[in-house]
Amino acid sequence: MTSIFLDIFIFLLGLIMGSFLTCVIYRLEQKMDFVRGSSMCPKCKHPLAWYDLLPVLSFLFLKGRCRYCKEKISWQYPSIEILTAVVFVWIFNYFSIPASIYYLIITCFLLLIFIYDLKHFIIPDSIVFSAIGLSLAFRIAEAIWYRDIYVVYNSFLAVLVGFAFFFLIFAVSRGKWMGFGDVKFSVFMGLFLGFPGVAIAIFFSFLIGGIIGTGLIISKKKGLKSEVPFGPFLVIGTFIALFWGQSILNWYLNLLAF
Ligand SMILES: [Zn+2]
Repeated sequence: MTSIFLDIFIFLLGLIMGSFLTCVIYRLEQKMDFVRGSSMCPKCKHPLAWYDLLPVLSFLFLKGRCRYCKEKISWQYPSIEILTAVVFVWIFNYFSIPASIYYLIITCFLLLIFIYDLKHFIIPDSIVFSAIGLSLAFRIAEAIWYRDIYVVYNSFLAVLVGFAFFFLIFAVSRGKWMGFGDVKFSVFMGLFLGFPGVAIAIFFSFLIGGIIGTGLIISKKKGLKSEVPFGPFLVIGTFIALFWGQSILNWYLNLLAF
């Protein structure tokens, strides 16, 4: 397969995964069973056929409305599908194949956290604990495979730094500035990014969160006291550290050296 066909394949895989993620989010919202139950229209409860569930295409063919009751389908569905597909292709072209498979799975967890926290101001335990479990398993496998105890020290240090930082903010503000979900997410960040990746991710989460938070207050969309979910910024910070962490660190160290 030439790379363009591989890219198209990964893009389609991303669309399908994006569609699956919106389904997971819907089921989390409704506290439904993950495995059982077929898809149905949230309004008229009519079961949906496979041709109603084609990512993006069904939305376009149906002109954004349910085939059966003509209720509007949220634009969030095709947006999440396209976002997932774009991130999939990006990761696949950026990293080697074994690493990108792991990163694609983690991407699914990160997108779930991003969307769910944005909509509901909470990071679901089931998702963050699954992400922690997977990244912990990966680190252990890495340490055994390379017979490298440094991986264990590094992960431990990274988790400690992330956890201590977020727990301090959580404790000082008594949960007002930062939810405990963010503290749990920091454990994932430490395991996934290692040190100093975790520090880079935290730095950019706060930088971008601060800029957007200030923008919202100035444009009067949010008051000083109103909540802004922090999970989406943590996810963006994690992606920045994953893609550019090493370059940013090199640039910074060069800056210090001269
Ligand atoms: Zn309907």
